[in-house]
Amino acid sequence: MTSQADAPEPTHRLRIDTEALAHNWRALDAMSGRAQAGAAVKADCYGLGVDICVPVLRDAGCKHFFVAHWSEVEAVLKHVAADQIAVLHGPLTSAEVDYAIATGVRPVINSVPQAERWIAGGGGVCHLMIDTGINRLGVSTGELDSEALQALDIDLLMSHLASADENGDMNARQLHAFRGAIGKIAHRRLSLSNSAGIALGEDFAVDVTRPGLALYGGVPRPELADAIHQVAFIEAAIIQVREIGAGDSVGYNGEFTATGPMRVGTISLGYADGFLRARGKGFALRHGDRHLPLLGKVSMDMIVVDLAAAPDLGEGDWLDVPFDLKNAAQQSAVSQYELLTVLGQRLRG
Ligand SMILES: *Cc1c(COP(=O)(O)O)cnc(C)c1O
Repeated sequence: MTSQADAPEPTHRLRIDTEALAHNWRALDAMSGRAQAGAAVKADCYGLGVDICVPVLRDAGCKHFFVAHWSEVEAVLKHVAADQIAVLHGPLTSAEVDYAIATGVRPVINSVPQAERWIAGGGGVCHLMIDTGINRLGVSTGELDSEALQALDIDLLMSHLASADENGDMNARQLHAFRGAIGKIAHRRLSLSNSAGIALGEDFAVDVTRPGLALYGGVPRPELADAIHQVAFIEAAIIQVREIGAGDSVGYNGEFTATGPMRVGTISLGYADGFLRARGKGFALRHGDRHLPLLGKVSMDMIVVDLAAAPDLGEGDWLDVPFDLKNAAQQSAVSQYELLTVLGQRLRG
């Protein structure tokens, strides 16, 4: 007889504070003024998980969900109506057009050939991305009078800001270009700002905003710092405790060497969980307000910390891994976007 055993609980975990996620959406919606906030839910909600995050955003009141790829639609479609989902990369093949029409999901048209493909396949309501300076995806303003674009039934007329997290003149130039395009093509509503763009004020909010990073706790501009709460929390257990003495080194390449007797703990967390080596320098885990400094290099699956501040802790006790996104990204020498999206699948359990 075979028995179906449940897998034991992992020794580390990612906890999503769903209250904080809902709070962040409401805060960004309020900061969007008369505009409604949507949500960028691509890349599996920036690594935090569609199945956890999308229902929370939906219940908070979000009605526009943006994914990058067609392959990301199915997971989101389990939780929200098809016409609330927009696919940013648009239809590159007739199979993608057929899929959009069969599901009722809306493509974001990014080029004249995409528009022609959409119309040839049956078309219907779509969104249109205009490039106003990022030169990534989108039709140029000079193409707006083309027959295929004029034939589209456009809900959101969109553009995307290249440098909303900076104060240069690019934002004003893009807003100007966007406004210049508005009268050239029929549409129902306008959408321009990502998370950082929302902090640029109501001129940039127009009808629908598209925050991503800030929903998940990222702070791309200081104006958002007070409003945005931490969403992702990481905890990991001590899986072994050892006593070491003067001259003993710890970890790969022996980067740390003890100068006297110490009690150290091995923690099941490594770069396979998004805990990068660059972050190791000067880093400490926490237990309450006690700091447990990292010793030596981060390994693929483990780190070692100094337990001097917590003599009562042993195998099986859980520690907090500080994951305030702004600081953690700075320490890791990567952007807040990269740090979130490299959180390992394994950590999600
Ligand atoms: C990813 C994305 C967003 C969200 O950007 P954040 O900086 O994460 O807020 C908004 N709009 C488009 C077109 C995007 O690709």
